[in-house]
Amino acid sequence: MIPLSDIASLREIGTTLIQWYQLHRRELPWRETRDPYCIWISEVILQQTRVAQGIDYYRRFIERFPDPVSLATAPEDEVLKLWQGLGYYSRARNLHTAAQQIVQDHGGAFPRTYKAVRTLKGVGDYTAAAICSIALDLPYATIDGNVYRVLSRVFDLALPIDTNRGKQAFAELAASMLDPHRPGLHNQALMEFGALHCVPSTPDCLTCPLSDRCLSHIAGNVGERPVKRTKTPPIPRYFNYLHIVWHGHTLLSRREKGDIWQGLYEFPLIETDSEVQWEEITRTTRFKEWFPRQEQPQLCGMKQMRPHRLSHRTIHARVWRLNLSSDTLPDSLSRFVLTGEGDPGERAVPRLIDLYFETLRKDRGQ
Ligand code: SF4
Repeated sequence: MIPLSDIASLREIGTTLIQWYQLHRRELPWRETRDPYCIWISEVILQQTRVAQGIDYYRRFIERFPDPVSLATAPEDEVLKLWQGLGYYSRARNLHTAAQQIVQDHGGAFPRTYKAVRTLKGVGDYTAAAICSIALDLPYATIDGNVYRVLSRVFDLALPIDTNRGKQAFAELAASMLDPHRPGLHNQALMEFGALHCVPSTPDCLTCPLSDRCLSHIAGNVGERPVKRTKTPPIPRYFNYLHIVWHGHTLLSRREKGDIWQGLYEFPLIETDSEVQWEEITRTTRFKEWFPRQEQPQLCGMKQMRPHRLSHRTIHARVWRLNLSSDTLPDSLSRFVLTGEGDPGERAVPRLIDLYFETLRKDRGQ
């Protein structure tokens, strides 16, 4: 099914895409450098983020952490704060850990072989191939969502891209197509073509330089490529946040390992199996533990947040605003950190909490 034998014609497709890229590529800050550290940071930012949003984050990140040593020696809270709003915070934690690996194992200099790059925390096949080809001219093919789409259409491949068999077949095809003399240029051309021209729902087939050999275009099934297995729907989770106001302060808690948003700060949380009313919250063990009988807070209101979608979960959050008037903070709440009433300060918070603070400021006309 995959014409691996016809390497010359595969390479011709690559050459056409490089010509297209030289005319249409976007000017982006990480394309002005061949520094593998900068390429690495840009690739990690772009893993789950749109280019337009990633540019400012990239500039700020590189300005604050211009090399592996400055990143490795920064406190984790500062790295997370700089990442705030990008989501998928494990990326930031992995960058931090990997920078420490670079300092420890390579004296602070970014490694220059695929094997060494691939061992860095959080660096998978795709990221290692991107860094090595773009910054170091090593012959590794990159396969991201754009590449899957372009290849599945040009070669009319119906193998699901989220199965092992599909991944293997696409990896072989991409490796055969790769131009070994300019792998970085080839990879960027293929990805940029998918990002700008052969886009998911409105590919511009009429002006496409590959239209006369694109098998999917010829077969008239472009809209059905690439093929994916049926997706499982995200699991709902129900978060009841307690925004406790105590003499102009509020309480935050740092999320632990083993769940989403590790290391970020949030309000004291009571998670339930479904959406619940206030009375049910006050009957939970956790609430009783935080508010023993003599320390009851006053309920001042509730904010229902919009469903917050993550890759495998949808968070349904309600923020319950409580006023606590006791002179001293009860011992039962002493494990929380105090912050300004409407502002998390220097602490990184999930986008959901940030949105809540934003609506609070708007309500107050700030
Ligand atoms: S002809 Fe259409 S589907 Fe085929 S590569 Fe070009 S834009 Fe993509």
